[in-house]
Amino acid sequence: MSVVIENLSFTYMPGTPYEKRALQDITLSIREGEFVGLIGATGSGKSTLIQHINGLVKLQSGKLRVFGIDLSARKIDYKLLRKGIGMLFQYPEYQLFDETVLRDVMFGPKNFGMSEAHAYESAKRAIELAGLSFDEIKDRSPFELSGGQKRRVAIAGVLAYNPEILILDEPTAGLDPVGKRDILELITKLKGGAIKTIIMISHNMDEIAAYTDRIIVLDSSRLVYDLTPAELFEKKDELPALGLDLPTTVKIKNLLAEKGFHITEPALDIASLYAQIISKLGGRHE
Ligand code: ADP
Repeated sequence: MSVVIENLSFTYMPGTPYEKRALQDITLSIREGEFVGLIGATGSGKSTLIQHINGLVKLQSGKLRVFGIDLSARKIDYKLLRKGIGMLFQYPEYQLFDETVLRDVMFGPKNFGMSEAHAYESAKRAIELAGLSFDEIKDRSPFELSGGQKRRVAIAGVLAYNPEILILDEPTAGLDPVGKRDILELITKLKGGAIKTIIMISHNMDEIAAYTDRIIVLDSSRLVYDLTPAELFEKKDELPALGLDLPTTVKIKNLLAEKGFHITEPALDIASLYAQIISKLGGRHE
């Protein structure tokens, strides 16, 4: 198991007039190899949950194990925990800081104690895994790159220290449609190879539906659903109350059903919706 959470509750500023319950009685497990979506309205508790997993907030009640590290233990090896988790915050390119791409990407491995030579090799591998040409980009300033390239450099900076779990907060925010698709395809390619487990926060239901294996839904500090995308997006009447939209493909499928054109299989991405419409039309298409 990558992450095991049992009956976790958390309150900010407990015992003060400002106390705020952020998580209530959360129980869930994430297996190695899963690509999990974490969704819910603003303020539902997503960031607080992620900050528990990477050890940025201290466990108050319940149990939490992250790849074998018990976060309720008296002594916690935070360095080992942080090395095992690649965290990409929103707009990660804002955290690029060094003079060259190579130095920026080597920062993480060096910070975790790798030798200069080992950090160089790790950075090289990570830059290539992120879909960039090492020789072309290594000596350039991160600040002169395109938006999509900068985001890839930020991803490389995390891949360079070989984390077990990659946590992404709105990884495609601010990119154009092609840039969004490229980043999601890169992330999908990393899964099962360089990265074992992926957790993605997103408000974009098209991306969540098309790319994740399983979706965890928070609402006002509680876990309300833990389902596959196909199961979750069947709940078209419940989702608006949770502040959640439906994926475009599911909206089209539902509109067609209202007109008497019923597609029975889940349609979680445009290719599968298209294939099903064509097959229902008897396969006649150009
Ligand atoms: P999300 O990531 O889903 O937007 P958060 O985990 O940020 O949700 O917030 C959960 C709840 O905790 C919200 O009510 C939010 O206002 C509150 N909260 C978040 N961070 C803090 C903080 N540092 N101090 C006090 N309350 C906070």
